[in-house]
Amino acid sequence: MFKRVLITSGPTREPLDPIRFLGNRSSGLTGMNLARVFLKKYAAEVVFVSGPVCRYPSGVTLVKVETALEMRDAFFKYFSGADVIIMAAAVGDFRPAGSSQQKIKKAGFPLVMKLERNPDILKEAGERRTPQQLLVGFAAETENAVKNGKRKFLRKNLDLLVINEISEENPAFGAVRNRVTLLTADRVIPLPRRSKSELAAAIAIQVANLSIMRKNRGVPRE
Ligand code: C5P
Repeated sequence: MFKRVLITSGPTREPLDPIRFLGNRSSGLTGMNLARVFLKKYAAEVVFVSGPVCRYPSGVTLVKVETALEMRDAFFKYFSGADVIIMAAAVGDFRPAGSSQQKIKKAGFPLVMKLERNPDILKEAGERRTPQQLLVGFAAETENAVKNGKRKFLRKNLDLLVINEISEENPAFGAVRNRVTLLTADRVIPLPRRSKSELAAAIAIQVANLSIMRKNRGVPRE
């Protein structure tokens, strides 16, 4: 049983002005199903840091955020107390440089927009994590999924990477069913296309297995 599982979920919104934003198609469904399965079977507490979505899970410690910077702040408030960390959020990589307090008039709207890079929360988590914490990341790949995934796995210092294999037939984002490949330090596990709740259950089993393997080994990972 884990003490605290910290999950990020949903999209982020990066405002241009009070009305408009840069966003993405994440529905937060995978994150919500992960919260449910961990709460039901594996965790005393789930902290759920979520961008704006239609439905949120019940029973969690819910922190609602909008932007990547807000998500980062909320995330690191709960980070050190978490034994499992799962970054299912589709965090926007860029934000408009300087958003306007007032609605920008159509006539004055800049047709070329300047962007700034958002912090990579997962990468920072990989740098700050302890050997005891389990860190799970997500990837969305349209080609060379496993090869690119392996690089991401190492670069972000992960224990488990969930690779969404994006194609016309498997859009993943906003869809009810999804096909993924799971990557650990020593295994590549392709899963058949399935509902996001079945997918969450499979991810939770892998996390539980990794935790058991680590305890059996009795040595912290480097
Ligand atoms: O490098 P890439 O954005 O493809 O990695 C995706 C993973 O990194 C996801 O787990 C996502 O939640 C996380 N991420 C993040 N902060 C960002 C971008 C992605 O935590 N700014």
